[in-house]
Amino acid sequence: MSVLVVGSIAIDTVKTPVEEHSDLLGGSASYAALAASFFSPVRLVGVVGDDFPKSEFDFWRSRKIDTEGVQQVNGKTFRWSGEYSWDLNTRETRSIDLNVFEDFKPVLPKAYRHTDFVLLANIAPSLQRHVLEQMERPRFVVADTMDLWIETARSDLDELLRRVDLLILNDSEAREMTKETSLIKAGRRIQKMGPAHVAIKKGEHGALLFGQGDQFFSCGAYPLEDIHDPTGAGDTFAGGLAGYLAAHVKQNVTFELLRKAVIYGSVLASFCVEAFSLERLRKLTQDEIADRYQMFKMMSQFEVLA
Ligand code: AMP
Repeated sequence: MSVLVVGSIAIDTVKTPVEEHSDLLGGSASYAALAASFFSPVRLVGVVGDDFPKSEFDFWRSRKIDTEGVQQVNGKTFRWSGEYSWDLNTRETRSIDLNVFEDFKPVLPKAYRHTDFVLLANIAPSLQRHVLEQMERPRFVVADTMDLWIETARSDLDELLRRVDLLILNDSEAREMTKETSLIKAGRRIQKMGPAHVAIKKGEHGALLFGQGDQFFSCGAYPLEDIHDPTGAGDTFAGGLAGYLAAHVKQNVTFELLRKAVIYGSVLASFCVEAFSLERLRKLTQDEIADRYQMFKMMSQFEVLA
């Protein structure tokens, strides 16, 4: 089954305490689409300017990523620049140039409207809603968000939440959204706002998943020694998760399937941060994914198997 992915497509400049690189491919949809494509065909929705490299379109097409929904318009592609502090977790946005994003109104090609799985990667919640409104009853909707929208577009976000099956956000965003210090209380409170499932990312400390009733899952992160660029880890997590769900769902999206999807999202995110931009993901193989999945399994087993 396919996944429709909408979000930003960007040209990024990223500075860490040890390195700085400019004019990199970035954007929430770029990371999410590539991650999802390891498991399922992807239908990409976004906008780029006339400065955007044609080679990227060729690359997407080589990876089962349908680009009919990517508009290329006159003007410059969305640009973002960020700087990380020593913990490689805290980040400051240095600049943001919306450019062609300013007038972006996603229009879904006809063939996209029946897609069963939707990933609303991080963009303004009003745009995420605009995409949902053009769809014919998707089976499962995953949405990602960020602090900016919690602070500046709360009513749009609240409205969106009522139509989402799984919300993904990070720990500080969950706390900000609910004013709860406990992540457990925060997750349960967000569920009451609409989504039946909530995934809270904790960076190098893994992720929490909340389901119906007392369904709860907690997983660690892969113990990486070298992190080069954390940009896009969250989007990659969401993409890997949604792609895995679409590829393996049978009758319904069960909690058991979601648990595995969270692990595959974490596996993909752990590769993403090993290099700048999408460079590690571009070279990633199915064997490497399978090996790291096994490592995750071994790391979290605490009873010796008979
Ligand atoms: P993440 O590290 O998962 O938060 O995602 C980083 C990506 O999000 C970068 O490649 C940026 O181009 C993109 N990004 C940054 N700010 C925004 C924004 N306000 N809206 C959409 N995408 C953004």
